[in-house]
Amino acid sequence: MALTVHQFPCLSDNYGFLVRDEASGQVATIDTPDADAILAQLERLGWKLDLILNTHWHPDHAGGNEALKAATGASIVGPAEVTRIAPLDRTVADGDHVMLGQTRFDVIDTGGHTLGHIAYHDATDHIAFVGDTLFALGCGRLFEGTAEQMWSSLSRLAKLPDDTTVYCAHEYTASNARFALSVDDDPALKGRAEAVFAARERGEATVPTTIAAEKATNPFLRAPLLRPSAVTPAQAFAEIRAAKDSFKG
Ligand code: ZN
Ligand code: FE
Repeated sequence: MALTVHQFPCLSDNYGFLVRDEASGQVATIDTPDADAILAQLERLGWKLDLILNTHWHPDHAGGNEALKAATGASIVGPAEVTRIAPLDRTVADGDHVMLGQTRFDVIDTGGHTLGHIAYHDATDHIAFVGDTLFALGCGRLFEGTAEQMWSSLSRLAKLPDDTTVYCAHEYTASNARFALSVDDDPALKGRAEAVFAARERGEATVPTTIAAEKATNPFLRAPLLRPSAVTPAQAFAEIRAAKDSFKG
């Protein structure tokens, strides 16, 4: 594989991701949940940071930008909304791409959790970094966008190839599974939920996931099937999202 991904826990339930383009040796971090933790991992790996790629402006994603830039000189790329909390060296939007050595990341607009949220897709290696848009068995809360916007973002991610490895920014899968079981009794979901609970008992990560696994079992992607009476798919999604927001599992 041309891109190596190093994943590690950060803060209480975030994941940090350091990626290295093997052809050039260039290194990027996807988001900056915790500058000190990211610097410690760089040191351990013997990697030098070239690039910071932000998915959205929230402090657990962009809060370490300035400290990491000061420590490494890395340049910062992200959606315009990141400038609410820190300066950017380059602003990107849907349809743009970012090169890390020979690895190309296509920028996909995935607004909804925040208005300007983006995902980074490496189509060659079948890898996507989706921030807080799509989670294993879940999706991000609608802090700024509408249900229509989030449904369209999730639908775009669902159209990526089935074997795309999906790196979500949080370990929320066990609680997502408890909610999913409350709205869906599909056998594939039950099997996956059991595997998730067992993995978490063993202290294992349930991230990354794949597009195929999410299309098969994620209640948000399956919303139109789970809420057949809804007038539109986006309305079905809105109903499942509202149910999750009030779920006491
Ligand atoms: Zn967020
Ligand atoms: Fe987050």
